[in-house]
Amino acid sequence: MRLRATAALSHPGRKRRHNEDAYVVQPPLFAVADGMGGAKAGEVASSLAAAALQESGGSADWSGEARVVALIEEANRRVFRRATEDRDASGMGTTMTVALVEDDRIAIGHVGDSRAYLIRDGHLEQLTDDHSLVAELVRSGKLTPEEAETHPQRSVITRAVGTEPDVDVDTFSIAGAEGDVFLICSDGLTDMVHERTILAAVEQHRANLDEAAKALVNAANRGGGEDNITVIFFELSSEEPAEETEETVVTESPVGDEDTLDESHAQPVATVEEPKRRGRTLPILTALALLMIIAAAVLWLLDHL
Ligand code: MN
Repeated sequence: MRLRATAALSHPGRKRRHNEDAYVVQPPLFAVADGMGGAKAGEVASSLAAAALQESGGSADWSGEARVVALIEEANRRVFRRATEDRDASGMGTTMTVALVEDDRIAIGHVGDSRAYLIRDGHLEQLTDDHSLVAELVRSGKLTPEEAETHPQRSVITRAVGTEPDVDVDTFSIAGAEGDVFLICSDGLTDMVHERTILAAVEQHRANLDEAAKALVNAANRGGGEDNITVIFFELSSEEPAEETEETVVTESPVGDEDTLDESHAQPVATVEEPKRRGRTLPILTALALLMIIAAAVLWLLDHL
């Protein structure tokens, strides 16, 4: 599985002066962080968390869900440390929803109410469960999903990155399929735009995810734009890119371990040999065909003389 396309867009919305959302698009790593806290602390929290991912995202000590957890834990350490050192940043925190694409598995980890969705076969599926007051009330049957949509405390989250020395991360993995589109977004989108509209916009702009991201941000602003809006898309493809098939030919060529040829020598030899062989075979076949025609003609002549 490889990535066919990615897109990302963040907008402050119509009511907020600052954008306290941050995002990471560093394939195969993707994340949205929605910061909270007084003054500019929300911006500090989400950007510290995003930087933690960008800086430690390349490390391959772990894989899959364990790596996603390690990344969010590192973000938690950095945000919490700053919040304890800096009086202005006291109590700040951030949501964090992270996706890591590895072969055909997509590991997802999250804390808070930024969501991950999967668009597959014309359906939109919410993959993450919000860590929010209203989501918990819905899960325990005390609130209907419809009541939750308009609840005055719907932006209250029950878990955050950076507010405690340790963080509890929810993780799971999805088996990717050809054409899967993953959407990670902040609540500035999902509070303003119904899931039906999200799906319709994605389907309409399926061929251009940058356009799909613009359409979602526009829809959130039309719906009121009461919060910062952040949208990330990535699309999976099972097709191998053309360059990679050539590389496969090279690695499959029988080069023994004791062979002293280095890769820079092996590559042109392998790629040049193929057309040469084809070029030689064709004239030989043509010559053989000509010889057979001549032989047949000679035999026919001998027979009829
Ligand atoms: Mn928000």
